[in-house]
Parts: sequence; structure tokens; C-alpha cells
Amino acid sequence: MRKVVKFGGSSLASAEQFKKVGDIIRSDKERRFVVPSAPGKRFDGDIKVTDMLYGCYAKAEAGEDFSSDLAAIRARYQEIIDGLSLTLSLDGEFECIAENFRNLAGTDYAASRGEYLNGIIMSHYLGYEFIDAAEVIVFHEDGSFDADTTNEKLSARLSQCKNAVIPGFYGADLDGTVKTFSRGGSDVTGSLVAKAIHADLYENWTDVSGFLITDPHIIKNPKVINTITYVELRELAYMGATVLHEEAIFPVRQEGIPINIRNTNRPEDPGTLIVENTCRKPRYTITGIAGKKGFAAINIEKDMMNSEIGFCRRILSVFEENGISIEHMPSGIDTMSVFVHQSEFEEKEQKVLAGIHRAVDPDSVYLESDLALVAVVGRGMKSQRGTAGRIFSALAHANVNVKMIDQGSSEMNIIIGVSNQDFETAIKAIYDIFVTVQL
Ligand code: ASP
Repeated sequence: MRKVVKFGGSSLASAEQFKKVGDIIRSDKERRFVVPSAPGKRFDGDIKVTDMLYGCYAKAEAGEDFSSDLAAIRARYQEIIDGLSLTLSLDGEFECIAENFRNLAGTDYAASRGEYLNGIIMSHYLGYEFIDAAEVIVFHEDGSFDADTTNEKLSARLSQCKNAVIPGFYGADLDGTVKTFSRGGSDVTGSLVAKAIHADLYENWTDVSGFLITDPHIIKNPKVINTITYVELRELAYMGATVLHEEAIFPVRQEGIPINIRNTNRPEDPGTLIVENTCRKPRYTITGIAGKKGFAAINIEKDMMNSEIGFCRRILSVFEENGISIEHMPSGIDTMSVFVHQSEFEEKEQKVLAGIHRAVDPDSVYLESDLALVAVVGRGMKSQRGTAGRIFSALAHANVNVKMIDQGSSEMNIIIGVSNQDFETAIKAIYDIFVTVQL
């Protein structure tokens, strides 16, 4: 078995965290390729090294003195080196970084140093080879990612080594100019490494014991999802649940490599396994609940709308012309509603209304704002009778008025529209009926 292990910033924020990571890696010989992030927050209110680097470089760009900012960054690394009792000096590296900052090497270059330096420390600590991501992760000149060249370079390079540390988050174009993925992009690097070596598993170590059934700000200590499919994850992530960088899924999914989300602070927890497909039954009927506030609905009524060919298309083109994306579109015989993000809609509201009047000459158009959408997602809901019934009776008991219902044809998600103020109550009611009382 070959495993790629990626560690997030909180897992590498201090020497103490590094030691936990070292123990995890050494406890399993299959953990051969390590992708570190930059040091994250050590405590509430602390600053991530990546953010310190952005701040420091902004000063360099403004022609201000950035030496004390760079010294503070250096102190973060020195604390880790000392805490691990390593005989490693980053003097030369910091001289080079200061020089490159003075020469305005670019914001991406600046941010990438967080992972680069952490990678050097990690490789010394583990005795693994260090591979600079700038040599193997390739970007086009315009900053977009070059998947094919990366895969060729990475697989060629990694086939020659037994163990290696490859820093996350950055790469370079063919001229050597450093470029980064978007924030949180070390997840993407881990996924690319896993694809390149045809790993059996991509372990993504963080500070939670997996993907939670719902938002812990709404439900205290929600249960962890044991196994989730990529499709379910996508549905939940789209509705605001986050655990992985969105672009990290594609490379491993293409290769059928599962991702295991694990907790560095609780390595005994099995975490969440993300897979393409599974016949493992989910623990509960539902896999997860996610949602977002801040939607508006445009409700259009017109007598005999159903027999007017092209009606929907004309409505939709009004939104398209105004550059507004549509979330949901429940319809009745003579009514149609369009759900959009309120913030996107508000500024163009009058133009859209005028456009609808011109396009379809409706009997009435009325607007509703401050709506929330709740997505109940689960492969276990398919062909399971009564799921929708249970959801809606739970909502009725909780006194939540349902404004919209949309069930995808895959029977894997049910989207419910409620008012913003009922959002938390709705999620609690659904969680309780499926998880707390284990129906
Ligand atoms: N260090 C980068 C960030 O803070 C990338 C990462 O952690 O994945 O966004």
C-alpha cells in the first residue's frame, strides 16, 4: 500500500504538533509521501504564517521596511526547529527570501515560502527527501494549473524515491516563476501527489475527526460521517459545508483513490472516508445536512403559463442577461419561482423585474427575501419510503413553515426553502429526527 499524507496548518503550527505528525508518519511505513501546509494558528487569535507572509510582502511592495515582519516569521520557524532539537539553519533561506522580497518576486512567491520552509523542516525531522514543489507542480504563465505536465513531472520524479516531502500550495510556471493555488490549496497538492503515484489512499490530516453531519455552530458535537461519496460531498460542500479545497477532489476521484479525513490530535479516530462509490450502508438514513441563508425568490404568476411554449426560457434569459445565477426553480401550473442569491440580485432587482415584464407579460410578480435553503443529503434516502415525510413532520413539529421543496431526481438530496429566521431550527429538527433519535 502507498499512502500520501497531507497535514494542514494547525497540525504543523508548533514543535508539539510536529511531534504528533512525526509519530503518525512513523507509525505506518506506507505513509511515504508527505505534503505539509505552512504553520497555522497555535491558539485563538494567533496569525497563520501564510497571512504573515502576505502582510510582510505588502510592506515590501509599498517600499516600507519589512525586516521586523520577516523576523517574526523567522521566529515562528525557529521555535519549531528548537522544539524539535534539529540542527538546521534557515539563515541562507531567509537571506534569499529577503532579497527576493526586495526585488518584488511576487505575492505568490511570498505566500509559498510558508509551505516551502515547513517542508524543509519536515524533511529534516523525518529524514525524508525534500522535493521543491516548484520543480514538479506546473502552472501556465497566466497562473492556471497545468495538470498534464504536472502529472508527468511528478510521477517521473516520485518514481525515483522511497519517501519524500513535497510542500503544498504552490508550484511554478516553466520559467520558474512561483504560482500558488487559491487559499487552502495544499489539499490540491496532496491530491495531485496521490494521483501521480497511484496511491491507495490519500490521508488528509486536520484538526477535526472527519466530516461532520452538520454545522457544529448549530448542533453541539454533531456526529462524524463515516463514509461519504464524492457526489454527496459535492452536494454538501456546495451548500456551505467545508472540509477540503474544492479542487482537491478531481485528481483523486479520476483515479478512484479514496480520501480519508483524519484528526492529528486524535489519531485513533477513523475519520471520514470519501469514496467514489460504496455499498456500505450509511449509519443514518441521511448522510449530512447543510444550508445557507441569504436567498431571494422571484415568484411569477401567469394564467395558462403551462401552455406557453418558451415561457421558462424567456424568464431564464432575463437572469442570464443580468449575470445572475439561479439556484432553484420550483414551478406550479401557472406559477414559477426562481431562487437566487439575494446579494447578487438586490442591485439588479429593478432591471430583472422590468425584463420579466417585457419577456413574458406576467399577471403578477412578487418578491420574497431573507430565505434560507437547507439541503438534506444522503445515498441512503434513495428508494427509502417515508424520508420526506419524516423531514416535513419534524419541521411541522418545530413550527417551521416550508416555503419550497425540491427533490433531485437522484433521490439523493432534498432541498427545503425556509425563512432565514427558521434556518437553525430547521436544521436542528432534521438532525434530531434522523440522528438523535436514530430513525
Ligand atoms: N497555507 C495556505 C493557506 O493558508 C495553503 C494551505 O494551508 O493549504 O491558505
